[in-house]
Amino acid sequence: MPIDATLPYDSGNIFARILRGEIPAKTVYEDEHALAFHDIAPQAPAHILVIPKGAYVSWDDFSARASDTEIAGFVRAVGHVARAAGMVKPGYRLLANTGPAGGQEVPHLHVHIFAGRLLGPMLAQRGEP
Ligand code: AMP
Repeated sequence: MPIDATLPYDSGNIFARILRGEIPAKTVYEDEHALAFHDIAPQAPAHILVIPKGAYVSWDDFSARASDTEIAGFVRAVGHVARAAGMVKPGYRLLANTGPAGGQEVPHLHVHIFAGRLLGPMLAQRGEP
């Protein structure tokens, strides 16, 4: 179910639980600001999620409330993960779903990194899911 990105942060969300080590994730990178792990239901040959360590519901919340240091750290982590995975030359796609129209399901900011094939049109055509 898509979430309302204007609601307060829910510390019981699945990515908060991954950050606390309560449930496992296939981690590919971790630093002071970010954690990156494989998506549990990959939609491309490579599908990695990068999340900030701070408690931010969405891109909107993060861009409004995070410190410059957190924002710089997170953006650099996303770039590092893609570079380290060899995605730069073939190319990759970033996606941050936000709120119901964006189809956001987990209420902790996450950037999807997709790669490994030609990714096709930027958005599904009307009528497609
Ligand atoms: P979104 O629709 O942008 O909120 O994307 C949420 C993503 O989280 C989906 O691609 C899910 O497959 C992924 N996901 C949900 N639970 C887990 C989990 N425990 N570990 C890794 N990825 C997950």
